[in-house]
Amino acid sequence: MPTGHWPGTLSAMRTQKAQKAKILILYTGGTFGMDAEPLSVPELSPKELENRLLKRVPELLQLADCQVKIQMNCDSAHLGPREWVEIARTIESQWERFDGVVVLHGTDTLAYTASALSFLLRPCRKPVVLTGAQRPLAAIRSDARRNLISAVELAAYGLGRPGSRLDQVSVFFNETLFQGNRVRKRSAVDFAGFESPKAPALARVGTSIQILQDSAKSTSRAKSSKTLPRLQPQFSSRVAMIHLTPGFPAAAVEKLLPDLDGLIFVAFPSGTAPTHLPELHRLLASARVLGLPIMVVTEGMGATGSEYRAGKEMLEAGCLWSGAMTPECAYVKASLLLGQERGREVLKKWWSFELANEGVSIR
Ligand code: ASP
Repeated sequence: MPTGHWPGTLSAMRTQKAQKAKILILYTGGTFGMDAEPLSVPELSPKELENRLLKRVPELLQLADCQVKIQMNCDSAHLGPREWVEIARTIESQWERFDGVVVLHGTDTLAYTASALSFLLRPCRKPVVLTGAQRPLAAIRSDARRNLISAVELAAYGLGRPGSRLDQVSVFFNETLFQGNRVRKRSAVDFAGFESPKAPALARVGTSIQILQDSAKSTSRAKSSKTLPRLQPQFSSRVAMIHLTPGFPAAAVEKLLPDLDGLIFVAFPSGTAPTHLPELHRLLASARVLGLPIMVVTEGMGATGSEYRAGKEMLEAGCLWSGAMTPECAYVKASLLLGQERGREVLKKWWSFELANEGVSIR
């Protein structure tokens, strides 16, 4: 499928007599559907919520054949592995009925859910677009309405284009479509609330919709669906992710190790760690004795983890490098692999393998 401009709404409406895309809109909560004054999760039945959505954005029904399902109605701070699996199951049970799926989600943990869905929905057979809003749909100056409309248009890209580059879990916000497992929330106030600092955008929405360079190379997608493991939708709840700091309290953290299945360190931007601290080496030695995997992730761009001695020492001590994975994605991937039977073996085998183009091998 060539990269190019797609006029979006106008052409979709021109051709809609012939065929309208069928879109499942899965509502999970967040600011998007909250009451505006005061900002709060409304006590509404699923039917009332659905009516509210269709009343505020009636064009949805013109744009596509949309069906709204209220999966849950929570601040996304209260969503986790159980809800990720529920959302994935709903989508999987509906693949055949829809051309694309839009998931409305709170922004705070959207990056985690997008990562989880990218692993759970392999191979992803339709566009699954997550979006949310910084201001509720009920507010006058809100981004909810346009985020929803564009997300529906992007999900409709699945109509008649099997195997398209948008057949993946993605996140739409403001005017950009990102690969889902590469996003991070960057602002609680800007309408451009998300970024994917280590992966190119998938599409831009302005006066037209421009599908950009594919970040998921078709070869790696094909390989993923053929050779990679089938994972059970089970997550370990004994994975901790901790920021390394100057003067890191390694002795205190070492005490946590027996209660964990895995530990992720968020290292300094070049992938370095305070390896001059003997307590940190003691912690790493204890982890080796316990067989506890430690992964190192960095928020910095371009780090390899081994350029500096202060990074290399972590890898030499047995820590696993996370490539260009975001911390959110690394956390979800570790929890998923460690949630499998013989999780530590599974993690060691698959940590450095691209399961969903999550960026392990890209610097
Ligand atoms: N706390 C909200 C949530 O993540 C924030 C939002 O939706 O923007 O559910």
